Amino acid sequence: MSVQKVLEQIKENNIQFVDFRFVSLTGGAHHISLPATEVDADTFVNGVAFDGSSIPGFRGIEESDMVMMPDAETAFIDPFTAHPTLNIMCNINTPDGERYDRDPRSIAQKAEEYLQSCGIGTTAFFAPESEFFIFDDVRYESSMNTSFYKVDSEEGAWNTARKEEGGNLGFKIPAKGGYVPVAPVDSQQDIRSEMVRLMQESGLRVERHHHEVATAGQGEINFRFDTLTKTADNLLKYKYIVHNVARQWGKVATFMPKPLYGDNGSGMHVHTSIFDGDTPLFYDNTQYANLSKMAMSYIAGVLYHAPALIAFTNPSTNSFKRLVPGYEAPVNLVFSKGNRSAAVRIPIAAVTPKGCRIEFRTPDSTANPYLAFAAMLLAGLDGIKRNLDPVALGYGPFDKNIYDLPEEEKREIRSVPASLDEALDALEADTGFLTESGVFAQDFIDNYVALKRSEAKAINMRVHPHEFSLYFGC
Ligand code: GLU
Ligand code: MG
Ligand code: MG
Repeated sequence: MSVQKVLEQIKENNIQFVDFRFVSLTGGAHHISLPATEVDADTFVNGVAFDGSSIPGFRGIEESDMVMMPDAETAFIDPFTAHPTLNIMCNINTPDGERYDRDPRSIAQKAEEYLQSCGIGTTAFFAPESEFFIFDDVRYESSMNTSFYKVDSEEGAWNTARKEEGGNLGFKIPAKGGYVPVAPVDSQQDIRSEMVRLMQESGLRVERHHHEVATAGQGEINFRFDTLTKTADNLLKYKYIVHNVARQWGKVATFMPKPLYGDNGSGMHVHTSIFDGDTPLFYDNTQYANLSKMAMSYIAGVLYHAPALIAFTNPSTNSFKRLVPGYEAPVNLVFSKGNRSAAVRIPIAAVTPKGCRIEFRTPDSTANPYLAFAAMLLAGLDGIKRNLDPVALGYGPFDKNIYDLPEEEKREIRSVPASLDEALDALEADTGFLTESGVFAQDFIDNYVALKRSEAKAINMRVHPHEFSLYFGC
């Protein structure tokens, strides 16, 4: 949408507020609203000022005056506000009008520009499968029977594990038993459908939704692939709608990778392909899994840099509680067609030349999608530029379940880092593929590592409840 179109939309839809949003280092959306009467064509030229020093990971007070630069293309009407509000995603500039080198959205755009400058292809497409849990929200318990929450009170089946305890066990999903059962076992059909409806109204092209493998309450909604920055924008919109619909229904949604011990966690598998104009570059039906040589080198780049890459795709201490054997989350740095225990899977069912893609299964939704997609693309492009061969490098293909291999064979296979600290160590040791292109500044990476180290330290310093069962009686 052009600036002109946005201004027309404000008038036509009687928009009262325009909400300008940007993304922080850790992937959270932040916003400042202006009365629509204060917004005109100049707003898109001059931007909207904000205090960058109060956002974790941005620079200190010496560089507090930052400017949000609205991207008119991203405008959509907020489905939740009481007053008609238009949301617009922004880049961040310094007061001198330069792109702020810590703005994740600018980094995503630079990665796309870099792809074009390499002469490898014109466009990289991304499609994330971001899983989540919807839990009862205890804060709403006392309000359940009021008219505002009447959907809950009319449909008793809504309430999951906590309310069913001791009863209705036939309809209670056991750990890892939740893959696509119909209602009443799947008690969240309506809430997901409502999310989908609002996503469509907000401009997302949704392809499907379903209950996921974990116990009652794990879901997934898939929206259509798009280019790198647009997909990251779409993911922010997706999470915003999932969180807020859950809240409207008296529930709470979480994208935390491993909220429940002993059950499947929530991943964010990311599908990628590269095109040159209309021509898909990953397809070659004479080769393994219909993958071109370029696609194989891309895979090799992703797997080779994976330990460092994971600092962006799995950037929380909780991420590594998901990346353990037995829960469909990958642990092994190998590739395979079909096999869900591999870090890189090549979906082969019903794939057309244009649909030919690779699926990186490691990421989760604690990733900042702008940084994670940019880093993934750079890892893959490095593989292409260096002509890496994933077979020669020992990354597979492994078309059997790696979890079931004999121990001596498993020992040959490289694993994902075991903790956030290990991933950060790997990133510190392997930054060239991110910085040599000029997409990530070394200062950005140092600052990111410091921020994430502080999260790891905060967790390491705290006494864990399970330590009591292990050590209290010693
Ligand atoms: N929930 C699984 C994960 O943590 C993935 C299940 C699936 O294959 O969709 O990655
Ligand atoms: Mg899934
Ligand atoms: Mg998947």
